[in-house]
Amino acid sequence: MEQQTAEDPILVVGAGISGLSAAYTLSQAGANVVVVDSRSRAGGVMETTTLDGCLVEGGPDSYLSQKPWATALVRKLGLEQELIGSNDDRRKTFIVRDQQLVPMPDGLLMMVPTKILPMVGTRLLSWPTKLRMGLELLRRKPAKPRDGDVSVAAFFRDHYGQEAVDYLAEPLLAGVYGGDPERMSAPSVLGRFVELENKHGSLSLGVLRERKAAATTHAPTPIFRSLRQGMGSFAEALVRAIGPQHLRLGQSVLALEPQRGGYHVSFADGASLQASQVILALPAYAAASLLESMHPLSAKLLGQVPYHSSATVALTFDLAQFQRPPEGFGFLVPQRERQTLVAATYVQNKFPHRTPEGKVLLRCFVGRAAEANPGLRDDSSLVDAVLADLRRLIGLVAQPRHCAVFRWPRAMAQYEVGHAALVRELRRQVSAIPGLHLAGNAFEGIGIPDCVRVGTQCAEAALGKRS
Ligand SMILES: Cc1cc2nc3c(=O)[nH]c(=O)nc-3n(C[C@H](O)[C@H](O)[C@H](O)COP(=O)(O)OP(=O)(O)OC[C@H]3O[C@@H](n4cnc5c(N)ncnc54)[C@H](O)[C@@H]3O)c2cc1C
Repeated sequence: MEQQTAEDPILVVGAGISGLSAAYTLSQAGANVVVVDSRSRAGGVMETTTLDGCLVEGGPDSYLSQKPWATALVRKLGLEQELIGSNDDRRKTFIVRDQQLVPMPDGLLMMVPTKILPMVGTRLLSWPTKLRMGLELLRRKPAKPRDGDVSVAAFFRDHYGQEAVDYLAEPLLAGVYGGDPERMSAPSVLGRFVELENKHGSLSLGVLRERKAAATTHAPTPIFRSLRQGMGSFAEALVRAIGPQHLRLGQSVLALEPQRGGYHVSFADGASLQASQVILALPAYAAASLLESMHPLSAKLLGQVPYHSSATVALTFDLAQFQRPPEGFGFLVPQRERQTLVAATYVQNKFPHRTPEGKVLLRCFVGRAAEANPGLRDDSSLVDAVLADLRRLIGLVAQPRHCAVFRWPRAMAQYEVGHAALVRELRRQVSAIPGLHLAGNAFEGIGIPDCVRVGTQCAEAALGKRS
């Protein structure tokens, strides 16, 4: 009979960035750790490959440098010299309006305007919206914070009107969450802006005041960071540090059963393992199915976090086939424009060393909440739909040299209205299950830095450093 001993490993289920961050922290502390993933490679949605001499990111291509946790982990791994920033000199983003690319006005912090002249001059918004944006500066600090949760759309509509939701908030957030602003929770997705509202009333004024206060203390940093060899090399470095012998890839966890002070873990291939503790670093629905018989209430709460599917399509071209070199980092396509594309990045401008001289690499992002799940289209019709959009929107005439499709079914957690309360209750319930921890992108942040932070915190809890 299996006995729990001091040697029983801590099991991390899921080898995406959340699980690898947890496993790294455990292994650095000298704990016995086993990481399991149903995929045959580590990294989860972080996947880097090459296509036509270009370095292609199938999933995330970078992370926000403002959040420190991913950079801190890269440094611990000794990869500081591999860190690169986005080429912000060429940072210009366009938004599609009436099937034309319109430059995003200068001075926007996400969707909050902070400069008057660029807003006055932009073709992106109508005069009534511009006027409304100007008047927003006069908005007073509220007597008390808003009661309860509010959707992103309702929040921004209240400040800047519907057109600002349609042509700023929705496209900017769709590239991150693929979600519907009418359903997404403002405090969970854009907590900083809700705080600014509480503190200053006007969001524009709040951003300006905070920027002024921070101006003297911050050296300029690139907006996005990545690794020279791509985000996949982050996962590879973590695997090397953890020790590849501690990973079991291509193995799905089927069931968890509390046993002898730990967990009896059953795998899809019939194998089993006795673990002292378990960190579930999985999409919420996958964690829910493992907790269903052990803790039905937690499973039910986990099942309430919705997920969207997305896909990226990488296309390479010869620059010579373009009349003019593509400008800026790329463009965003509002839902109102009814295209397949959600966004496209010109990789040769954002991360120039990822493409050889004379090549164009277009990275197209597909899959909006209200649109067909990309899984419903085969690869060639998905590429055709993307190319048709590119012909319409940027006048593409060139034929792609190569293309690659990366599908991410149910990978993007959606933080809908009520999310914070749901997560609070879930954390409360799970804290009562001994030796079980929840990491992943479903709770306190979907971006890579937050996944690193939450994964690390779970490991610290497993080591007894954190409650
Ligand atoms: C296309 C795309 C682009 C993105 N772009 C960015 C970006 O530019 N910047 C940014 O910061 N964030 C970005 N994100 C978000 C970010 O990449 C993800 O939120 C984050 O990587 C999720 O990591 P994770 O480890 O929590 O989950 P995942 O990477 O999804 O890993 C979960 C793992 O669990 C495994 N698994 C599931 N069930 C089981 C089971 N029963 N047994 C064993 N294993 C199982 C899966 O195989 C998977 O490998 C993007 C996401 C996508 C999909």
